[in-house]
Amino acid sequence: MTMILDGKGLAQKLRVKVKAEVEGLTSGGRRAPHLAAILVGEDGASKTYVRSKERDCEFVGFESSVHRLPETTSEQDLLDLINSINNNDDIDGLIVQLPLPKHINSEKVTEAISPFIDVDGFHTNSVGRLTKGEDTFISATPFGIIMMLENYGIETSGKHCVVIGRSNIVGRPMSILMSRNDYPGNCTVTLCHSRTKNLKDFTLQADIVIAALGWPDFLKEDMVKKGAVVIDVGITRVDADNERGYVLKGDVDFEALKDKTSAITPVPGGVGPMTRYGLLFNTLKSYKQKMQL
Ligand code: NAD
Repeated sequence: MTMILDGKGLAQKLRVKVKAEVEGLTSGGRRAPHLAAILVGEDGASKTYVRSKERDCEFVGFESSVHRLPETTSEQDLLDLINSINNNDDIDGLIVQLPLPKHINSEKVTEAISPFIDVDGFHTNSVGRLTKGEDTFISATPFGIIMMLENYGIETSGKHCVVIGRSNIVGRPMSILMSRNDYPGNCTVTLCHSRTKNLKDFTLQADIVIAALGWPDFLKEDMVKKGAVVIDVGITRVDADNERGYVLKGDVDFEALKDKTSAITPVPGGVGPMTRYGLLFNTLKSYKQKMQL
């Protein structure tokens, strides 16, 4: 029997817990946790993501502020805004929605965010601490996946985990987490990427496959062994004849694969909602650190 890893349901359960904790923390007059977001330009997917983050904050009782800046915003103006947020003691988390317009150096922007409020976990300081196994803000998607594996009790120790994709925000940190000496972790990890030859030879050996490449339906039925756990990170908007004009597609051919796996995430409703939870978790963590709770 295949277990469908219901990220949507799990994230909602975890959000309810955060909401209760926030109610407790603020009932004595303490301020609420505050997540700030900066959105530059008009990218449709980015606007949707930021709106859903605002809704999540509202649900759990966080304060949220969104700075919506025009596409033409200069790099310096953006850095100045980040600096002012860094220095605002009442803000616990700051995210700058990626991608940024081409004239802005994303790396410079990521490094400008104070590591103390880097709830996306993209700063070199956060990545370095993650790599060394030190306490830090783990970036939201890898963190969400770890939470999902943990909550569903997926066995990971001694397993072979194949991660497809080596981006700084998903694939690479995921590979580090799955190899750490902890649960979930203790896997033997293979990190595959666009230059990997005969990728199927690796995925066929995997007990756990984490697909994060952004190629709809890339992972096919004949690429996975029976009983494997499959985590689909991909979200691609594919044109469709519906009201929205698109459907969301994962990197995994879910229908073809689901009966062959022991556990699998759907898209939508799998990793996406867990990523959003990861951001709430990190913001609450930052708040507790600031308030010395
Ligand atoms: P990215 O474009 O930065 O990285 C893609 C990676 O895939 C690269 O490292 C590349 O080497 C690898 N790759 C590309 N083609 C390949 C191939 N044929 N074989 C093997 N590897 C290949 O993307 P990203 O930011 O890591 O995102 C990956 C996907 O995950 C996207 O669809 C993105 O939208 C999605 N995503 C989802 C969430 C979520 O919350 N569910 C969060 C972040 C990203």
